[in-house]
Amino acid sequence: MIRIAIQSKGRLSEESLALLREAGIKIDELKRKFLARAADFPLEVLYLRDDDIPGVVAGGSADLGIVGYNEVAETGADVKIVRKMGFGACRLSLAIPKAQEYTGPSFFEGKTIATSYPNVLEGWLASNGVKAKIQKIMGSVEIAPAAGLADAIFDIVSSGGTLVSNGLKEVEAVLQSEAVLIAAKDLDAEKQAILEKLLFRIDAVMESGGKKYILMNLPTDKVSEAVKILPAMRSPTVMQLAAEGWCSLHSVVLESELWDKIERLKAIGAEGILVLHLDKVID
Ligand code: ATP
Ligand code: MG
Repeated sequence: MIRIAIQSKGRLSEESLALLREAGIKIDELKRKFLARAADFPLEVLYLRDDDIPGVVAGGSADLGIVGYNEVAETGADVKIVRKMGFGACRLSLAIPKAQEYTGPSFFEGKTIATSYPNVLEGWLASNGVKAKIQKIMGSVEIAPAAGLADAIFDIVSSGGTLVSNGLKEVEAVLQSEAVLIAAKDLDAEKQAILEKLLFRIDAVMESGGKKYILMNLPTDKVSEAVKILPAMRSPTVMQLAAEGWCSLHSVVLESELWDKIERLKAIGAEGILVLHLDKVID
């Protein structure tokens, strides 16, 4: 049995559970308790506040965790980062009132900066040779300057909308973050084996992300041109159609390249193009 800590409620909880679900691990979400056992995989889920996850994994009370890299960096927890999960992207940034002119790191000399991430901030200040006062607050950091609590803030930014609506502007992006899968440093052989099994599934789910299955009818004499447009995993599958001179061509394409490829395929005579959802990709 392996134990994974995930955020109980918040920005990362739904996607963490969705990932497990897509990996074929069903957890009864209706009865979201502190600890929940998966139905068909040797895994249990420990629901925690995100701040607590790195420490709990480092301490061995959970074997794995899914948490923002920002929390791993802040806690300095001694854990292994096993995978970047590709969701929960954000950054830790310094922001100042938008009317002020930003002159570089020395702007912060002698200023008060409000943050929930004092350790990461301290590291940045030290490496830039700046002395500033850190005001630690756990919530509503973005209102600190307007409330007269601080001259600047150091906080999580994703779109930047929260900053703008509080009259602030981002001036330094200090740390890039996304959700990461973390593991305790010394898992025994049995847990390591379960982790490998879990990673095999997670990789298949992540590999399918951003990809589509595409099939189309194509004049047989255009196959070699189509193969140049659609490299696929090894090469596209070509099947003979009952109609003379036509074939059906199947492949996998990146969603970001989908429309460009479709236009090029149409231009060489592809018809009846179908684009399908791709559930898992096992390399
Ligand atoms: P908890 O109650 O678990 O302590 P929280 O309020 O501290 O939750 P959330 O706001 O749910 O945390 O954010 C969890 C994580 O989501 C953050 O640590 C960060 O990694 C990520 N995240 C991504 N985008 C954003 C964003 N725009 N604002 C805040 N966090 C974000
Ligand atoms: Mg938190």
